[in-house]
Amino acid sequence: MDCIFCKIIKGEIPSAKVYENEHVYAFKDINPNAPVHVLIVPKTHIASVDEIDCSNVCTAAEVFKAIPHIAKICGLENGYRVITNVGEDGGQTVKHMHFHLLGGTKLAVKLN
Ligand code: 5GP
Ligand code: ZN
Repeated sequence: MDCIFCKIIKGEIPSAKVYENEHVYAFKDINPNAPVHVLIVPKTHIASVDEIDCSNVCTAAEVFKAIPHIAKICGLENGYRVITNVGEDGGQTVKHMHFHLLGGTKLAVKLN
């Protein structure tokens, strides 16, 4: 499968790793939209939140469990935002489920 995030997880494409455990990989977004912009992905390929079902919900939960830990590593004591884009209308460009962790400044309230 030609998935850029699977290649990053395998180390075939370099990335700035922030955190890793058995289930989750987190790395700096190449084109940051905030002082802290980290992408958090499951190590197994799930296309998007729309693909979550009984067979992979535990993996998705592992991603959520990692978020507070990664936020601490990034020094986001004052708060942060977690975003996931889904499909064409959601603006998803990489079809491997990922959560954007954004912070390090007072973020604007803006939907599009
Ligand atoms: P999406 O638009 O799918 O929600 O988010 C994809 C994100 O992946 C974008 O913010 C984009 O900057 C980031 N991205 C795309 N390719 C790479 C890459 O090769 N390395 C890193 N670190 N980030 C990437
Ligand atoms: Zn993938």
